[in-house]
Amino acid sequence: MYIKRKLNESLTTFKGLHYGYKTFQKSSHRYRVSVGIGGNIGDVKRRFEHLFFVLKRDKRVELLETSLILKNPPFGFKNQDDFFNSIIVLQVSMQPTYFLDYLMRLEKKFARKRSFANAPRTLDLDIIFFDNRVIQTPRLQIPHASWSQRESVVIPLSGLKI
Ligand code: AMP
Repeated sequence: MYIKRKLNESLTTFKGLHYGYKTFQKSSHRYRVSVGIGGNIGDVKRRFEHLFFVLKRDKRVELLETSLILKNPPFGFKNQDDFFNSIIVLQVSMQPTYFLDYLMRLEKKFARKRSFANAPRTLDLDIIFFDNRVIQTPRLQIPHASWSQRESVVIPLSGLKI
């Protein structure tokens, strides 16, 4: 069950028990990371629910907070369904490249098919921020390269309670 709010012709937010969530539980993990999640194939909100429980159960991460879910039009390749996006804030002890590997394994678990750039996808996981680190390597750009130009990141992020 979600509370649905239309922001304008193309943007809608969904607030639920697990998206728009915050815990005040303390974590022993060291780094605070914001992960952008997105998808536009099949029942994406249901997949996000599943992801919430997978992360909650995993001792390697502490799920602290989630943003609302934003439904928004695709960019780049436009001839595809709207995307659903949200931000998940985690506390982790892994270093950034290990954390990227961890996220890529999670994407695989959720059966992501890689085809072409900006193509439809089941679950996309991006590191938006990793503590206050700045990383510029071929494999990893943190903060995420275009986070500040994307409604799919900026709108969910702006609602986080921090
Ligand atoms: P995509 O899933 O299509 O957005 O791109 C995945 C690729 O982007 C991965 O192979 C990563 O090496 C690279 N990448 C660079 N910076 C990041 C980041 N901040 N978060 C996730 N992937 C990143």
